[in-house]
Amino acid sequence: MTEFTMATDADGVATITWDTPGKSMNVMSLEGFSELDGLIDKALADDAVKGVIVTSGKEGSFAGGMDLNIIAKMKDSVGDNPAKGLFDGVMATHKILRKIERGGMDAKNKGGKPICAALPGTALGIGLEIPLACHHIIAADNPKAKIGLPEIMVGIFPGMGGTTRLSWKMGAMAASPLLLEGKLNNPKRAKSAGVVDEVVAPEELLAKAKEWVLSEPKIVKPWDEKGYKIPGGAPYHPAGFMTFVGANAMVNGKTKGVFPAAKALLSAVYEGMQVPFDTALKIEARWFTNVLMNPSSTAMIRSLFINKEALEKGANRPDVPDQKVKKLGVIGAGMMGAGIALVSAQAGIEVVLIDQKQEAADRGKAYSESYMDKGIARKKATPEKKEQLLNRITATTDYAALAGADLIIEAVFEDVGVKAAVTKEVLAAVGPDCIFATNTSTLPITELAKAADNAEQFIGIHFFSPVEKMLLVEIIKGKQTGDRAVAKALDFVRQIRKTPIVVNDARFFYANRCIIPYINEGIRLVKEGVEPTLVENAAKLLGMPLGPLQLVDETSIDLGVKIAKATRAAMGDDYPDGEVDEVLFWMADEGRLGRKTSAGFYAYDEKGKRQGLWDGLEARYPVSDAQPELSEVQHRLLFAQVLEAVRALEEGVLEDIREGDVGAILGWGFAPWSGGPFGWLDILGAERAVELTEALAKKHGARFATPDLLREIAASGGGFYDRFGTGSDAKAA
Ligand code: NAD
Repeated sequence: MTEFTMATDADGVATITWDTPGKSMNVMSLEGFSELDGLIDKALADDAVKGVIVTSGKEGSFAGGMDLNIIAKMKDSVGDNPAKGLFDGVMATHKILRKIERGGMDAKNKGGKPICAALPGTALGIGLEIPLACHHIIAADNPKAKIGLPEIMVGIFPGMGGTTRLSWKMGAMAASPLLLEGKLNNPKRAKSAGVVDEVVAPEELLAKAKEWVLSEPKIVKPWDEKGYKIPGGAPYHPAGFMTFVGANAMVNGKTKGVFPAAKALLSAVYEGMQVPFDTALKIEARWFTNVLMNPSSTAMIRSLFINKEALEKGANRPDVPDQKVKKLGVIGAGMMGAGIALVSAQAGIEVVLIDQKQEAADRGKAYSESYMDKGIARKKATPEKKEQLLNRITATTDYAALAGADLIIEAVFEDVGVKAAVTKEVLAAVGPDCIFATNTSTLPITELAKAADNAEQFIGIHFFSPVEKMLLVEIIKGKQTGDRAVAKALDFVRQIRKTPIVVNDARFFYANRCIIPYINEGIRLVKEGVEPTLVENAAKLLGMPLGPLQLVDETSIDLGVKIAKATRAAMGDDYPDGEVDEVLFWMADEGRLGRKTSAGFYAYDEKGKRQGLWDGLEARYPVSDAQPELSEVQHRLLFAQVLEAVRALEEGVLEDIREGDVGAILGWGFAPWSGGPFGWLDILGAERAVELTEALAKKHGARFATPDLLREIAASGGGFYDRFGTGSDAKAA
């Protein structure tokens, strides 16, 4: 496969064009690297070539990065000594990029040919690391283009020289948002940040690159000259030293030490800045190898990139013709309905937003208006865009406006009777093919479907709050839900650019089924006399974005009470959470309903800003003298969630562990470093998980009982991904 081609013009400028066949954006493969290497050799050796332009054959982009599928598999494909194999592989790419950077100069920086990167647009990951090795970077002024190094977002860091080159070029402080947060910029911002050198009109890109190449520019990089001082100072200078003190604190504060890539990146920069440039690259390669060898990076790449993308592309979509939504009816213009209307209109879908009173419907639409106003204030939207979006939303009380709708999403009060009445009224107003979805968070879909004449066309589409921010949508099949309804829901989620998981109908579906026991375990611990701060910090130190007590404050304590009452009514004597309810109901009686009342497990100031944990909690549930080990609290909090995920798989609520893992990270922020609950179990090892759950069950009760499936996996000696990894055979038992 030819990915790179080269043509030399009459003026002696060789243009190397990157054009991965069959892809809309270039992605780097190992073969691609060796093609680029061969062409650079040829250009440097050819006396007729005065200089080189490296560009892309794709409109609007240079490259999307390295093929992460390759990175994920690299460890397994480099032989018996994977660390050495990886290190050697990374060093081989450094050699190619360093060759570009030296441009054929001798040891005294004499001679050499200028090499200019000409970026038509987006340049990510290796797509920026190659340009950073060139002598000059020109980007086309394409405001939609994104330029940056986002590797940290999927659990690795820029390990093909990007970390070293960017930090040596800009200084550690200026490079830190780009490296540690993976911040992406459009070309103009990339220029002001100092990442690219010039921004030109797209049609002038190649001409300007040629002009630069022929201008006999100075090509030696500052770090290849004597006496180069890294901006901001190297770590052994007082100024540079302080940068690292701050950076360390920031990284540990943000990652709680559980994301290996951030620490490794910082180490690569810190150590690299104290040695010559070539040694710095070697250090970067060593840390990069260290991260690739860490099971966390494999798990993160798998869930956050490979499987997330597979689900978005419809990995589990039934084979039914295109079901794209043209006209959507949203019933209930409250918090959820207003958000659903907004994201749908953003995707270009015509929306009818219905509520009982015109004022309520208008209020729902006004949510989109204020959202767009904020966007305009931040220069992310324009008044025209706002007008177009608002024109797509009709706020009304009139069900007749639903005529022609092909999908309905009902988001009225969480009440079976109200939902049934609304379902009947809607179905009388729409055509026979319209799919009806409910956004219920707790009510069984199969039960709600009874209000519809055709249960095959009835489905759950469960959004998370706030709708415009949360990336996950949980699609729930009732017992009779048909393929077309599933395909419709999946196609809709794709239109609004969120990530779907498809699960079967059971109490709390998948996400809430795992989140509720997490919150409950936190509350139980408090009732037992465990320090509330220990509970919250134990969760944070696992990489959970919110401790269980903060989470229940955010989602509201009265909602917890409502769910507890409904669950107790449904389960009768089997109801297991009486202990938890005692605390929860007491909090509700005290009027402490969480953030919305500025009072909950936490105290809040008069502006509603969260302060420390509320001291009244300790007065009612005194802290015991003997506190448990941190690891025991952590295991209780993690297994409370993870065992539910395993049971959901055992019971067939989950059909695919990829959905279980991606859904957990995107839905409630489950320790992303682990790749999700199944990823975590695989890192821990099933045998160890059996041991731990047996001990927990003995001490704390049946909620920690070891599921049969976990025992089976432990006995087989493999992991969940060995058995269910591809999704095709993911049905358990
Ligand atoms: P909400 O109280 O903010 O909004 C409900 C809206 O429905 C109100 O505007 C109300 O006037 C309207 N409504 C009630 N009866 C109606 C009828 N007969 N016809 C038309 N409109 C009617 O509630 P919400 O938080 O937006 O929740 C809506 C649904 O979404 C519930 O089923 C809830 O369980 C579910 N849900 C909520 C969340 C959440 O975090 N709030 C998350 C996921 C799902």
